[in-house]
Amino acid sequence: AKTILSGIQPSGLLTIGNYLGAMQHFVRLQDEADCYFCIVDYHAITLPQDPQELKENIRRLAALYLAVGLDPQKVTLFVQSDVPEHTELGWIMICQSHMGELERMTQYKDKSKKLKSIPVGLFTYPALQAADILLYQATHVPVGEDQKQHIELTRDLAERFNHRYGEVFVIPEPMIASFGARIMSLDDPTTKMSKSNPNENSYISMLDEPKVIEKKIKRAVTDSGHEIRFDPEEKAAISNLMTIYGQFTGQTMEEVEQHFKGCGYGQFKKELAEVVIDSLRPIQEKYREIYPSSELDRVLEEGAQKAREKAQQTLAKVKQALGVGLK
Ligand code: ATP
Ligand code: MG
Repeated sequence: AKTILSGIQPSGLLTIGNYLGAMQHFVRLQDEADCYFCIVDYHAITLPQDPQELKENIRRLAALYLAVGLDPQKVTLFVQSDVPEHTELGWIMICQSHMGELERMTQYKDKSKKLKSIPVGLFTYPALQAADILLYQATHVPVGEDQKQHIELTRDLAERFNHRYGEVFVIPEPMIASFGARIMSLDDPTTKMSKSNPNENSYISMLDEPKVIEKKIKRAVTDSGHEIRFDPEEKAAISNLMTIYGQFTGQTMEEVEQHFKGCGYGQFKKELAEVVIDSLRPIQEKYREIYPSSELDRVLEEGAQKAREKAQQTLAKVKQALGVGLK
């Protein structure tokens, strides 16, 4: 049977990139596999967070997981810091990691190059992510394209551990959609859309109001020319917007091209805004019901309990294999 783990950082408001690249797939997977979905707050603090905002973002993210259709009867939904085994195994995985392999991580390079002084946690974060996955003996990890390198590192660390100390870990596989797994920024089609981008116009949040969505899409950069044609090399900006349109409507790029034949950018953007607004509306409505409910607290408490049982089993095996501890 498949076991799935995936996490999202409460480092801002979820974007449609997070939705299209990751979250939309979770809903389908809940009927096919044993699923663990995690709110990775210890990853979020690799960069400074305002404490109150962080708390709020954790709750928002939890409510969104349920609002998109995850059923707490089927999946285990929990907050990473509620399960202390993550940081414990995280340390152990740091000890399996080499400087060189962590230095090669492109996310580390991207995020650190903007900083004057680099927090060590930003560097070691992929080892904690490996721990998140390995604790649940996940066979598959559904993520966006940007996380592929981290899953490969997780595999290397798990194989290295198994080789040194005996077969403890299941080797996980990345699960990346062939299309829509990399949504680009609205203001720059060469960088990935990210919720931690300080420029709010670079992304559409899943909780943006219709007016805001309209405005952001209107402002989105386009390419020279006027055709709606899918060509990621020559027309990166329009191709990104077409990908978003295609993902929300279930249309192929040929169908989208056909649909907008003879139309200009203005008409295309108007219809795109409508599609995004209509797709997010039911999620936003459910979200508003779930966010204030005490049911949400109960789901997270039960989720943490269930996750902990599994995590404790794996960690006990790891410690036994390593030779640490009294028993
Ligand atoms: P941050 O800027 O804080 O890193 P993020 O937007 O990159 O935030 P993460 O919490 O790091 O979000 O990632 C959550 C999930 O969303 C991961 O599976 C990741 O691969 C996926 N994801 C993130 N950005 C995109 C994107 N632009 N397109 C598709 N999938 C994405
Ligand atoms: Mg990220």
